[in-house]
Amino acid sequence: MTTPESFRAEVRAWLAGAPRPAGLHDYGPTPTPDDIDAGRAWQGMLAEAGYACLHWPAEHGGREASVAEQAAFAEECALADVPRQFHLVGPDLAGPVLMAFGSSAQKESLLEPIRTGEHLWCQLFSEPGAGSDLAAVRTKAVAVADGWVIDGQKVWTSGAADAQYGLLLARSGGPGHGGLSAFVVPMDADGITVRPLQQMNGESKFNEVFFDGLHLSTDALLGEEGAGWAVATATLGRERLSLGANAVGMLKALEEIVTEAGQRGRLDDHLRLEVVDAWLGVWLLRSTWERAIAEGAPPGGPPFSVLKMISTHTYQAIGDLGMEALGLDALASEHDEPLVDRMLVAHAQTILGGTTEIQRNILGERILGLPREPRA
Ligand SMILES: Cc1cc2nc3c(=O)[nH]c(=O)nc-3n(C[C@H](O)[C@H](O)[C@H](O)COP(=O)(O)OP(=O)(O)OC[C@H]3O[C@@H](n4cnc5c(N)ncnc54)[C@H](O)[C@@H]3O)c2cc1C
Repeated sequence: MTTPESFRAEVRAWLAGAPRPAGLHDYGPTPTPDDIDAGRAWQGMLAEAGYACLHWPAEHGGREASVAEQAAFAEECALADVPRQFHLVGPDLAGPVLMAFGSSAQKESLLEPIRTGEHLWCQLFSEPGAGSDLAAVRTKAVAVADGWVIDGQKVWTSGAADAQYGLLLARSGGPGHGGLSAFVVPMDADGITVRPLQQMNGESKFNEVFFDGLHLSTDALLGEEGAGWAVATATLGRERLSLGANAVGMLKALEEIVTEAGQRGRLDDHLRLEVVDAWLGVWLLRSTWERAIAEGAPPGGPPFSVLKMISTHTYQAIGDLGMEALGLDALASEHDEPLVDRMLVAHAQTILGGTTEIQRNILGERILGLPREPRA
């Protein structure tokens, strides 16, 4: 019988022997355009070895892996400096909602190319006026005789410039949750314009996406009309499953900070204490992660909100420590200096996957029983 420990050992041995596509490195949940070829080839290798879409049911090529096995896999990949999958949206979001809400034809044609890396997906949810308050989505889906016409704008869409498909949340009815529907969008269709946004670390993972009279056929609807909210929330928080694996990169960064600071004669009492504090934060993150997994906490639940907060705080503290280690050299560095890049990327942690303020609301209201925030 496979245990999480024996699975970890098996994965470690496989990772040690697997050839690496040229240029492959652990680029995080979304590849940059430069990472696409290596990431896609890597996903193909994972699929062949039985390590792609671990959590998917066997009938769709998955392994029905437990949360503990998925966590062990994420951590071993981080240790080996490879991504645990080509990208996040297809395997973790689109795949599971296609299985839960999709028609037989949608499942038949769309699931396997996600597993093998042929298709990259993007998540077309956030808009200029709808992020934390996702129910405020305004992109319109109007029913016509042979399908739907979509008009509106999305923003912060990771991977849209390279994606073959998008999972779209649009308003097909009245205001609020009940007026939303979900659609499968072929990203090369007429009526879609993707405009990359440059981040402060120089990468362009994000995009604005404009829909101008995009025509979708009837079978682009995912689930029932009006089921968009159920689709959008079905996999909420799944990305938090692998949060504890961030500890690997954080420990590597702390080692780098000590080396850089030492070389510059900046490893003074203050910095030493700060490094120890950050190191404690990393172990708190990892232990809390292990406990949440052992207790079987759902990834969207409060223990994972705690984890999100610890991860964000520690990630950003280490980013700032890197700047203290580099001193004035940090100002003169290009963003390809790893510690500078880490500090810049750390800022996004407060926002992605549910903002810090929203996590505080969840914990305050659901765990501490504090008065609910005023709602309109
Ligand atoms: C790295 C990264 C990748 C992303 N990828 C995608 C993607 O692929 N697809 C996609 O659709 N979106 C994506 N997003 C967008 C992300 O989902 C949103 O940025 C997030 O939901 C916050 O929404 P917003 O930016 O509109 O900010 P807002 O929701 O407008 O929030 C602005 C500020 O107000 C605070 N705030 C909002 N509501 C409350 C409240 N009720 N109480 C207290 N404070 C509040 C927030 O915490 C924040 O500080 C990504 C974001 C990041 C950083």
